[in-house]
Amino acid sequence: MKTSKIEEYLNVLFPNPKCELTYSNDYELLIAVVLRAQSTDKRVNSVTSILFNKYHSLFELKNANLNDLELIIHPVGSFRKKSYYVKEIARLIDEDYNGKVPVDRDKLILFPGVGRKTINVFLSEFYNEPAIAVDTHVERVSKRLGLAYKNDDVLVIEKKLMRKFRKDIWSKLHLQLVLFGRYYCKAIKPECRDCQLCSICKEKKKNFNWNAPIKVDTNKKEGVRKMW
Ligand code: SF4
Repeated sequence: MKTSKIEEYLNVLFPNPKCELTYSNDYELLIAVVLRAQSTDKRVNSVTSILFNKYHSLFELKNANLNDLELIIHPVGSFRKKSYYVKEIARLIDEDYNGKVPVDRDKLILFPGVGRKTINVFLSEFYNEPAIAVDTHVERVSKRLGLAYKNDDVLVIEKKLMRKFRKDIWSKLHLQLVLFGRYYCKAIKPECRDCQLCSICKEKKKNFNWNAPIKVDTNKKEGVRKMW
C-alpha cells in the first residue's frame, strides 16, 4: 500500500527525525517557530541565539526596544511585523499566562503571528501532541506523492494526511516529510534518481535529473537503490 511504502522509506531515511530549531524552553520554541515563517531553520537559529542571549527573560523581551529587536530579527525577513509579534507574545505569556505558554489551541490562536501550523509544530515538538503541520515542504511532498491534490490547501492536506496515517506517527511523520522535502524532494532539482518512491510519484518524470551521479552508501559499499 502507498502509505506503508512511504512510511517505511521515510523510516529508512530518517529513523529518528529531530526538529532543527534550537531552543531551551517553551517560549523560545514558540518564538522560533513564529520567526521561521518564510525563512529557514538555519537563519532562525542564528537570530534566536543573539536574541535570547541579549534578552534573558519574557520580562526583558516584552520591554525590549523595538528598533533593537528589528535589527536582530532583520535576517529572517518581515522583521517589523515579527519584532512586534515577539514583544507582544512575550507580554501575553508573562502577564496573562504566568510565564508559561498555554497548552490550549483556543488561547494560542489569539497570539499575534501564531496560526494553526505554528500551534501544530509547537504542541507536537514541546508536548509530543500528535499533530501534522503542513509547511511548504510537507505540501510539496504530499502533492508529488499523490497524498493530496494539486489544488488542495494546507488545511485540506493536513486532514488528508491525518486520515491516511496512524495517529501515533503524526508528529514523527511531519518531521520526516519536512526533512525529506528539505534534503531530497527539494523544490528545484529533487534527488529523484535515488528516490525509492519513484513508482508512486506524480512528478518523477518532470523532475528526474538523469545526469546526477548515483549516490553510494559507503558503509554498505552498495548503491542506495539496493537498500530498498
Ligand atoms: S521521485 Fe523525485 S519528486 Fe518524486 S518523491 Fe522522489 S524525490 Fe520527490
